[in-house]
Amino acid sequence: MGDGVSKPIDTKKVLITEDYIISKQVLGLGINGKVVECYKRDTGEKYALKVLRDVAKARREITLHVKSVSCRHIVQIKDVYENVYSGNKCLLVVMECMLGGELFTSIQERADNAFNEREAAAIMKDIVVAIAFLHGQGIAHRDIKPENLLYDKKGPGAILKLTDFGFAKHTGSDKSLNTPCYTPYYVAPEVLGPEKYDMSCDLWSLGVIMYILLCGYPPFYSNHGMPISPGMKKRIRNGKYEFPDAEWSRVSSQAKHLIQKLLNTDPDQRYNINEVLKHPWIDQNTAVPQTPLCTTGILREEIENWVDVKEELDRAIAERRIDEEQVKLKNVQASSNKLLERRRHKK
Ligand code: ADP
Repeated sequence: MGDGVSKPIDTKKVLITEDYIISKQVLGLGINGKVVECYKRDTGEKYALKVLRDVAKARREITLHVKSVSCRHIVQIKDVYENVYSGNKCLLVVMECMLGGELFTSIQERADNAFNEREAAAIMKDIVVAIAFLHGQGIAHRDIKPENLLYDKKGPGAILKLTDFGFAKHTGSDKSLNTPCYTPYYVAPEVLGPEKYDMSCDLWSLGVIMYILLCGYPPFYSNHGMPISPGMKKRIRNGKYEFPDAEWSRVSSQAKHLIQKLLNTDPDQRYNINEVLKHPWIDQNTAVPQTPLCTTGILREEIENWVDVKEELDRAIAERRIDEEQVKLKNVQASSNKLLERRRHKK
């Protein structure tokens, strides 16, 4: 069975500048460097270019991303080049250019102020489809956050896609390799082994995104601009959040139910992605009431705090990754102890 990361990536060895014109226009800044615009020489088409130092971690990121591009809600990769720049081996990833920008920017920029619960459910369905695809392949994304959810274009018909596999992890539970007709729908939660703790972090993040979609602010709030406070850490760890009446009184109880299943701090109690797919608010999203939401207005009011909100979410997701890693270790230990016990009994 493959580990999903051992297959070498198909890279082009010619200089990228032979095929693309690289612009100085920065599309976004990430922890690993810039993403800039580039243009294909023969067609003039615009793409996004991410440059990574050629290290094992970067190869893992690219391999897992490439493995996921057959899902329509994952950002597509066009080419990967392997070039040397001032003595450093680099991997240059040419991606489709996501011209529609980030999910919450597009909601905040809406002219009509009429964002409603049914639209939120449709957006959630798209994100859920992306995560279900990844989890079905045994891939945990582990960095589901607003800046990694981008639209391919502006306006009607735009498709929302997930990107940035910098924290993605192959969990070694790729059933698709040995079960030809496997789809994530058929896997009962109890079938999943300790790998599920790598996945469960994505479900918690999904809960945070869903909460923000429905009201415009995150479930765990600290003082803006302040580093994550001990109080907030505790609130996140204990899963303390509320549905304040002003924004939430008209939101459906089904939506709140799903959020509660996602923001559960106990990963054993939290929904897995198949349970989310089957939840009526997702499965029958076209029948969700068109209740107006406060999201657009609040995102606009809070625009100057949005950078802080994103930083806080980043820290919260990182904490969650660590917490889940600990639960996983604990449970692996416990289950292998059970095995040990049984063996002792047999003897
Ligand atoms: P990092 O792994 O370093 O965090 P990302 O892949 O998240 O880098 O990219 C950083 C930012 O660049 C994103 O938040 C987004 O704003 C922008 N970006 C990334 N990929 C694209 C793309 N395909 N099209 C347009 N902008 C992009």
